[in-house]
Amino acid sequence: MGKAALGGLVLQKPRDKALAMSTLYETGRPSMIPGPDQIIECPHCKTLARVRTLISGNTFGAQWWTDGKMIAPMLPVSPAITRCRGCGRYFWISQAKVVGEIPPWLVSPDALNERLAELMPSDQAARLKREWEKFPPEWKAAERVRELTEMEYLEAIQNGMAHNREQERYLRICAWWAGNDPLRFSNPERAPTILQRSPEALRNLERLLELLDETNPVERLQKAEVLRELGRFDEALQLLEFDFPDEYKKVADLIRELARRKNPLVQEVL
Ligand SMILES: [Zn+2]
Repeated sequence: MGKAALGGLVLQKPRDKALAMSTLYETGRPSMIPGPDQIIECPHCKTLARVRTLISGNTFGAQWWTDGKMIAPMLPVSPAITRCRGCGRYFWISQAKVVGEIPPWLVSPDALNERLAELMPSDQAARLKREWEKFPPEWKAAERVRELTEMEYLEAIQNGMAHNREQERYLRICAWWAGNDPLRFSNPERAPTILQRSPEALRNLERLLELLDETNPVERLQKAEVLRELGRFDEALQLLEFDFPDEYKKVADLIRELARRKNPLVQEVL
């Protein structure tokens, strides 16, 4: 695991690029440049789906959370795994065949019309319209791939979708984050009543403790956070006795403070 710069961002770089997660730390604010939408087909039934691509993004307006999730409106991260809308089976997007691309300025007829009205001289507008009409209707009708729910991530693991440690870790962290999502956007006073983890979700966190590598600062932080969220505050505090690199110190301090206060809820890092 190494760090890599991506458009002014620093992120943990897994061996498999498709598993890049949004555990990101801000170092700059480049502009967001969308890439084309890829048209992919489900490896099981060939139903088409669209995948957003990004040439560069930024973390303007982003939120970071103690579980490592980042929500960045200017850095939409496409999921690595999805569920086919045709046959309901799971597949890794990197393993799906790409059958074509739609340029970013032709995202949808509505978006096109809006932009035409605002920006385009009429001859250019007509040219773009002709370009849009050249694309096969089934490409244009394909829906964007969607993120799985907590239970779907866990089901995907049960169905044998994790072929190595890195994929299993990815799926389990995504399940954990999805389980925490209802807490992120609720009134903090209601949070304790919202957080009712299912037995499957608890088993997921127990298994994550085995998968996260304490010698990697980000994974060590996430492990401390899992322990804190499980109410194992003393163990969390022990793991936080570590000389974290500067960029992780703020998160480590927050998790430590919450563990000392015996607070098990995910929190935004402000
Ligand atoms: Zn399918």
